Amino acid sequence: MRPSTRIVHSHAAPDSTTGATTPSIHPATTFARDADYALPGTHLYQRISNPNRDQLESVLTELEGGVQAAAFASGCAALTAVFQSLSPGDTVACASDCYSGTREILVELLRPWGLETVFVDLWKPESWRELPDGIRLIWAETPSNPLLRITDLERLSWFARARGALLGVDGTFATPWLQKPLDLGADLVLHATTKYLSGHGDLVGGAVVAGPGASDLFARLRKIQVHAGAVPSAFDSWLTLRGIRTLGVRLRAHCENAMEIARRLESHSAVSAVHYPGLPSHPGHAIASRQMRHGFGGVLSFQVHGGEEAAARVCANLELVLRATSLGSLETLVEHRARIETSGTTPRDLLRLSVGIEDVEDIWEDLDKALEQAAKP
Ligand SMILES: *Cc1c(COP(=O)(O)O)cnc(C)c1O
Repeated sequence: MRPSTRIVHSHAAPDSTTGATTPSIHPATTFARDADYALPGTHLYQRISNPNRDQLESVLTELEGGVQAAAFASGCAALTAVFQSLSPGDTVACASDCYSGTREILVELLRPWGLETVFVDLWKPESWRELPDGIRLIWAETPSNPLLRITDLERLSWFARARGALLGVDGTFATPWLQKPLDLGADLVLHATTKYLSGHGDLVGGAVVAGPGASDLFARLRKIQVHAGAVPSAFDSWLTLRGIRTLGVRLRAHCENAMEIARRLESHSAVSAVHYPGLPSHPGHAIASRQMRHGFGGVLSFQVHGGEEAAARVCANLELVLRATSLGSLETLVEHRARIETSGTTPRDLLRLSVGIEDVEDIWEDLDKALEQAAKP
């Protein structure tokens, strides 16, 4: 079966006892034993496993071409579990333009625990030479946030292997529909399922999928999932699975709209720069074209003439586009990142757009009007 067919049929259906064509939700906390104290199936207690989470984990494993997966209550819970699967005294090399929560977890939570992190401009291969010896895990993010930088995963995976390090990738922006890090040589891929995988802006969740090279780390990660217990509810697992079934059509619309908006912004007189890997002018375009398929994602960012104040005015003038953080939902969201980051190097005149699946002309009319109004003296 081709990917779009597989994805529609990815949930186990129909149910063999009822014929139901969508999965049932199993909210049960616990699972009853017979008189001999045997369990009828594989489930014992919801935190340890349950049918909906199992189903989500097996679909994610298949989508990523991995060996096993673990689902979590948020993307950050998944990130924390990955890093806690290492040991105190280990060193992580993390992309310097990583998701801000990743930096918080590594610096605020896990440095006191004994995990060292060096931050590196991983999108520049010449910076890999600065890495100290003995790195256990390289943590990349591509496309990255909010400048949409592209890291060459195949080349980085060769480098990691030569150094005896594992390579993990936060693939939230791309989803397995657009990019498959394990096929490119990575050992782990992480998703905030909060974003495109669930896709409707109505839950938080996370997941880690492991390839064959990460089986030792994954055994520890599974223990953290089960014993620390930051697990998704049965309902959230079910909703995420439902979202995944439309991943192909949603991503097609997100990518088409983002490409069109990026092109139009690039030739708008109020805009000084557009960051979108689908544009030939983007420095990572050639690598992105090689390692991504079906499109370049739904997130882009742009800078406006007139500095932070002009960016704030554009943001304020929008009527359709919602001023809200997050991405990957159906509606277009704008974020003036510099105003919410506590520390950071994000340009003050930069706006990030998570381009939704509305009619592209409506998105454009709103943006164009907001830009024109903001440019007026
Ligand atoms: C949102 C996000 C996360 C964290 O996910 P939560 O579900 O909010 O905890 C991690 N990485 C990236 C790239 C994200 O966009």
